[in-house]
Amino acid sequence: MIKDDCIFCKIANGEIPSYSIFEDDNFKVILDIEPSSKGHSLIIPKAHADNLFELDNNVAEKALIVAKKAAAGLKKTLKCPGINILQNNGAAAGQTVNHYHIHIIPRYDNDNVNISWMHETFNKDTADAFVNDVKSNID
Ligand code: 5GP
Ligand code: ZN
Repeated sequence: MIKDDCIFCKIANGEIPSYSIFEDDNFKVILDIEPSSKGHSLIIPKAHADNLFELDNNVAEKALIVAKKAAAGLKKTLKCPGINILQNNGAAAGQTVNHYHIHIIPRYDNDNVNISWMHETFNKDTADAFVNDVKSNID
Protein backbone atom coordinates (compact mmCIF):
# COMPACT_ATOMS: atom_id res chain seq x y z
CA MET A 1 0.00 0.00 0.00
CA ILE A 2 1.19 3.49 -0.85
CA LYS A 3 0.14 6.50 1.23
CA ASP A 4 -0.72 9.82 -0.45
CA ASP A 5 1.65 12.65 0.44
CA CYS A 6 4.28 10.31 1.87
CA ILE A 7 7.71 11.32 0.57
CA PHE A 8 9.26 7.88 1.17
CA CYS A 9 6.38 6.12 -0.64
CA LYS A 10 7.14 8.35 -3.61
CA ILE A 11 10.89 7.74 -3.39
CA ALA A 12 10.58 3.98 -2.82
CA ASN A 13 8.31 3.62 -5.83
CA GLY A 14 10.34 5.88 -8.13
CA GLU A 15 7.92 8.81 -8.35
CA ILE A 16 10.59 11.05 -6.81
CA PRO A 17 14.21 10.45 -7.86
CA SER A 18 16.86 9.35 -5.38
CA TYR A 19 20.41 8.03 -5.31
CA SER A 20 19.63 4.35 -4.98
CA ILE A 21 22.40 1.88 -4.11
CA PHE A 22 20.18 -1.23 -4.02
CA GLU A 23 16.64 -2.26 -4.91
CA ASP A 24 14.58 -5.44 -4.82
CA ASP A 25 10.86 -6.29 -4.85
CA ASN A 26 10.28 -5.02 -1.32
CA PHE A 27 12.87 -2.32 -0.64
CA LYS A 28 14.81 0.60 -2.05
CA VAL A 29 18.08 1.61 -0.36
CA ILE A 30 18.98 5.26 -0.95
CA LEU A 31 21.53 7.83 0.13
CA ASP A 32 20.23 10.10 2.90
CA ILE A 33 19.78 13.67 1.60
CA GLU A 34 21.38 15.10 4.77
CA PRO A 35 24.00 12.48 5.62
CA SER A 36 25.66 12.29 9.02
CA SER A 37 28.67 10.69 7.32
CA LYS A 38 29.66 9.74 3.77
CA GLY A 39 27.48 6.85 2.62
CA HIS A 40 24.68 7.35 5.20
CA SER A 41 21.89 5.31 3.63
CA LEU A 42 18.24 4.54 4.28
CA ILE A 43 16.46 1.23 3.76
CA ILE A 44 12.90 2.01 2.73
CA PRO A 45 10.17 -0.59 2.24
CA LYS A 46 8.04 -0.04 -0.88
CA ALA A 47 4.82 -0.67 1.04
CA HIS A 48 3.88 2.06 3.47
CA ALA A 49 4.09 1.44 7.22
CA ASP A 50 4.31 4.36 9.64
CA ASN A 51 6.77 2.58 11.91
CA LEU A 52 8.04 -0.81 13.13
CA PHE A 53 4.75 -1.62 14.84
CA GLU A 54 2.82 -1.32 11.59
CA LEU A 55 5.37 -3.16 9.47
CA ASP A 56 4.22 -6.43 7.91
CA ASN A 57 6.12 -9.37 9.46
CA ASN A 58 7.16 -10.69 6.05
CA VAL A 59 8.80 -7.34 5.29
CA ALA A 60 10.23 -7.02 8.81
CA GLU A 61 12.06 -10.32 8.61
CA LYS A 62 13.61 -9.38 5.27
CA ALA A 63 14.65 -5.87 6.37
CA LEU A 64 17.69 -6.88 8.41
CA ILE A 65 18.99 -9.07 5.60
CA VAL A 66 18.83 -6.06 3.26
CA ALA A 67 20.53 -3.96 5.96
CA LYS A 68 23.33 -6.54 6.23
CA LYS A 69 23.74 -6.65 2.45
CA ALA A 70 23.83 -2.85 2.05
CA ALA A 71 26.09 -2.37 5.09
CA ALA A 72 28.55 -4.92 3.72
CA GLY A 73 28.62 -3.12 0.36
CA LEU A 74 29.14 0.26 2.01
CA LYS A 75 31.90 -1.11 4.23
CA LYS A 76 33.67 -2.66 1.24
CA THR A 77 33.40 0.61 -0.69
CA LEU A 78 34.25 3.09 2.04
CA LYS A 79 36.65 0.94 4.08
CA CYS A 80 34.98 2.40 7.18
CA PRO A 81 36.02 0.67 10.41
CA GLY A 82 32.49 0.79 11.90
CA ILE A 83 28.80 1.01 10.95
CA ASN A 84 25.73 1.89 13.01
CA ILE A 85 22.36 0.45 12.02
CA LEU A 86 19.51 2.21 13.75
CA GLN A 87 15.84 2.87 13.38
CA ASN A 88 13.62 5.52 14.99
CA ASN A 89 9.98 5.04 16.01
CA GLY A 90 7.99 8.08 17.12
CA ALA A 91 8.91 11.75 17.35
CA ALA A 92 10.24 11.22 20.88
CA ALA A 93 12.76 8.78 19.42
CA GLY A 94 13.79 11.19 16.66
CA GLN A 95 11.56 9.92 13.84
CA THR A 96 10.90 12.76 11.40
CA VAL A 97 9.59 10.81 8.39
CA ASN A 98 6.61 8.63 9.26
CA HIS A 99 7.40 5.84 6.81
CA TYR A 100 9.44 3.03 8.39
CA HIS A 101 13.13 3.16 7.48
CA ILE A 102 16.46 1.87 8.74
CA HIS A 103 19.54 4.10 8.88
CA ILE A 104 22.93 2.69 7.91
CA ILE A 105 25.62 5.06 9.15
CA PRO A 106 29.25 4.42 8.19
CA ARG A 107 31.55 5.31 11.10
CA TYR A 108 35.16 6.42 11.36
CA ASP A 109 37.47 6.94 14.33
CA ASN A 110 36.90 10.46 15.69
CA ASP A 111 34.13 11.30 13.21
CA ASN A 112 31.43 13.91 13.88
CA VAL A 113 28.55 11.47 14.34
CA ASN A 114 27.05 11.61 17.80
CA ILE A 115 24.94 8.64 18.91
CA SER A 116 25.15 8.52 22.69
CA TRP A 117 23.15 8.45 25.90
CA MET A 118 23.71 8.81 29.62
CA HIS A 119 23.93 5.51 31.49
CA GLU A 120 21.61 5.44 34.47
CA THR A 121 21.93 3.15 37.50
CA PHE A 122 20.21 -0.21 37.10
CA ASN A 123 17.40 -0.50 39.67
CA LYS A 124 17.53 -4.00 41.18
CA ASP A 125 14.62 -3.23 43.55
CA THR A 126 12.12 -2.83 40.73
CA ALA A 127 13.70 -5.11 38.11
CA ASP A 128 11.78 -8.31 38.96
CA ALA A 129 8.39 -6.58 38.84
CA PHE A 130 9.36 -4.78 35.67
CA VAL A 131 10.48 -7.99 33.95
CA ASN A 132 7.18 -9.66 34.89
CA ASP A 133 5.19 -6.71 33.52
CA VAL A 134 7.04 -6.70 30.22
CA LYS A 135 6.88 -10.48 29.82
CA SER A 136 3.10 -10.30 30.15
CA ASN A 137 3.00 -7.75 27.32
CA ILE A 138 5.12 -9.72 24.83
CA ASP A 139 2.99 -12.00 22.63
P1 5GP B 1 14.30 9.89 10.82
O1 5GP B 1 14.67 11.15 11.59
O2 5GP B 1 12.83 9.88 10.48
O3 5GP B 1 14.76 8.63 11.47
O4 5GP B 1 15.11 9.98 9.48
C1 5GP B 1 14.67 10.62 8.33
C2 5GP B 1 15.86 10.77 7.43
O5 5GP B 1 15.39 10.98 6.11
C3 5GP B 1 16.77 11.96 7.78
O6 5GP B 1 18.09 11.50 8.00
C4 5GP B 1 16.66 12.86 6.55
O7 5GP B 1 17.88 13.48 6.23
C5 5GP B 1 16.20 11.91 5.46
N1 5GP B 1 15.37 12.51 4.42
C6 5GP B 1 14.29 13.32 4.61
N2 5GP B 1 13.75 13.67 3.42
C7 5GP B 1 14.50 13.05 2.47
C8 5GP B 1 14.42 13.03 1.04
O8 5GP B 1 13.57 13.65 0.41
N3 5GP B 1 15.35 12.27 0.38
C9 5GP B 1 16.32 11.58 1.07
N4 5GP B 1 17.20 10.87 0.34
N5 5GP B 1 16.42 11.58 2.41
C10 5GP B 1 15.52 12.31 3.10
ZN1 ZN C 1 4.99 5.96 2.90
